Amino acid sequence: MMNFEENSCVIRELSACKETCWINPYKLPFDMIKSVSELVVSDADIEDAEARLLRFAPFIQKCFPETSGEQGVIESKLRELSVMKENLEKECGCSIPGKVFMKMDSHLAVVGSIKARGGIYEVLKHAEDLALKHGLIDESDNYEKFADEKIRKFLSEYTVQVGSTGNLGLSIGIISATLGFKVKIHMSADAKQWKKDMLREKGVEVLEYADDYSYAVAQGRAQSDKDPKSYFVDDEKSVDLFIGYAVAAKRLKEQLEEAGLKISSEKPLVVYIPAGVGGAPGGICYGLKRVFGDAVHCFFVEPVLCPSLLLGIATQKHEKANVHDFGICGNTEADGLACASPSGFVTRMMTNLVSGEFTVDDAKLYDYLRLLYESERIRIEPSSCAVFEGICSFRTHNRARRYCVDNGLTENVLNNAVQILWATGGSLVPDDVFETYLNTYL
Ligand SMILES: *Cc1c(COP(=O)(O)O)cnc(C)c1O
Repeated sequence: MMNFEENSCVIRELSACKETCWINPYKLPFDMIKSVSELVVSDADIEDAEARLLRFAPFIQKCFPETSGEQGVIESKLRELSVMKENLEKECGCSIPGKVFMKMDSHLAVVGSIKARGGIYEVLKHAEDLALKHGLIDESDNYEKFADEKIRKFLSEYTVQVGSTGNLGLSIGIISATLGFKVKIHMSADAKQWKKDMLREKGVEVLEYADDYSYAVAQGRAQSDKDPKSYFVDDEKSVDLFIGYAVAAKRLKEQLEEAGLKISSEKPLVVYIPAGVGGAPGGICYGLKRVFGDAVHCFFVEPVLCPSLLLGIATQKHEKANVHDFGICGNTEADGLACASPSGFVTRMMTNLVSGEFTVDDAKLYDYLRLLYESERIRIEPSSCAVFEGICSFRTHNRARRYCVDNGLTENVLNNAVQILWATGGSLVPDDVFETYLNTYL
C-alpha cells in the first residue's frame, strides 16, 4: 500500500537528524517494471560488461599479480558472520533471523573498496573505446596488450578526471595511472589524508577543495569539459559506473549456490548497502533485482547527517534534493557517504525497486567497527559499518516489521532467509588510522 503520509513523517524525522526507517511507498512488484527498466539498462548491457571485464582479465592479472588466484577477475569473498551475529543480537536486543554473511567488497583487490567494481570498469571501457577507435586493438586480442608501451604511450595523450570523497578517486586514479592515462582527482574536504597521500605516491595529480563533494564534482566536470582529450567519470550521472556495479549480482548468485543456498520466495535474500551518491548501492540493487526479482529485498543505509539518496527518492526531487535544504549539515564521519545531493539517474532507477532505507548516527559507526573487529578480526572503514544498523533495525523498527508482514516475510520465512551486509571499504586503511578508529568515541 502506498503510504505517503508516512513518507512526510519520515522526512520530518530526517530533518531532525533522528535515526529512522523508511519503507519505500513507490516500490512495485518487479514484473511490473522489468521491461521498462530494460530500456535503460538491459540484461544484455550487464552481460556486455561481464564480457568486457573478462577480456581485460589478462591485463589485470599482469598488472596486479594479487588477482592471479582469480585469473584477473576482481571479486570479493562472501563470509559468514557467526560471532558477530551473536554479538549484534546482544547489542541490539533482538534475534537476527537467517544466515548472516558479509560481502567483502571492503577487501576487493587493487583498491580495497566497492569502487573496484564501477570505477575500474568505467575506465577500462573508456580505454577500450579509444583503443578500438584508433585501431590499436581488436576485441579478439589478448588484452595483455594494454600493458605494452605502444598503447600506454597512446593513452598518455589522454586525461581521466573525477570528483571524489576518496575511494572513487583511489580506484579511478590507480587504474587510470596503470593504463598510462594522465589523471586528475578532484577531492572534497571530507577526503581522508591517507587517501590523498596514497594517490600522490602513485604519481596522480590530486586537487583539493575546501568544499563538499558536489563542489568537487562540479569543478572536475568543468575542467574536463574544457579539454577535448579529457574524460570525466561522472559519479552523479554515469550509466557505465552503474552497470559495472550491477555485474556483482550474477557472481553473488554463483557464490550463494556454491554455499548450497538457492534464493526463492521461501528463502529470500535481504541486503543492506551503505549509500553515498547512489551509484554503488543502486547498481548492485539493480543487478540483484534482475537476478532474484521479488525474492531480494534491498535496503540502503545512510548517516543521519547526510541522507541524500533517501531524500531524493522520498521527495521525488532526485538530483535536486540537497540535505542542506532540509536543515541537515551533510558533514559525517562516514566520508564515503558524504554526498549532499544524490545521483538523479540512480534515484529514478531505484524509485520502484528499493525496499527502503535506514539511517544511522555517526557515533554508532565506531561502536559497530569495534564490535566487528573484536568479533571477527575484520577491518572495515566507518562508512561500511552503517550496514549493521540496517540489520538490527530490520527486526526492531515498527515500520520494518510491518514491511515484513506486508511482503510475506513471516517468522518461518525469515528464519530461512539469507541476510547480506555489503562491506564497502577498508582493506587499504593504514594501521595507525585504523587504531584511531578503534579509539574514537563520539
Ligand atoms: C563509495 C562508497 C559507498 C557508496 O557508494 P556510492 O556510489 O557513493 O553511493 C559506500 N561505502 C564506501 C566505503 C564507499 O567508498
